[in-house]
Amino acid sequence: MRIGHGFDVHAFEPGDHLILCGVKVPHNRRFKAHSDGDVAIHALCDALLGAAALGDIGQLFSDQDEQYRNMDSRIFLREVVRRIAAEGYRVGNVDLTIVAQAPKLMDHILAMRQRLREDLQVALKQISVKATTTEKLGFVGQRQGVAVHAITLLLSD
Ligand code: MG
Repeated sequence: MRIGHGFDVHAFEPGDHLILCGVKVPHNRRFKAHSDGDVAIHALCDALLGAAALGDIGQLFSDQDEQYRNMDSRIFLREVVRRIAAEGYRVGNVDLTIVAQAPKLMDHILAMRQRLREDLQVALKQISVKATTTEKLGFVGQRQGVAVHAITLLLSD
């Protein structure tokens, strides 16, 4: 068994939706980012890579590289899953905590788990996505952006 942790933050800019775990969430902001800014998938990729000691998402997919501009982060995730499988690992479970003051995410959680399930190729019960606020404290609380913590357990046969 291998445990991995990932953490990522993205700032907001004016917009009309966020992408979180591959799900479009209506909001009056979007993420300022080189890719689609899916901060939840970025944290998850880093957890998976960390568990397998395969580096981090910035090493694999440079934000200086034009080919990744506006990239769907699910493509990053599928590539990470391919790499950990090549090392002989499969996903035991993942647990994400999305830290956001707004928008409310409760109604989108199931869709997020379903989207991640497609990319991770595991059962729904192996994927947990939770959301919390910071009680209006700090940059998250001031609605300047979103932070995501991710933890995963990888298993090898
Ligand atoms: Mg990121």
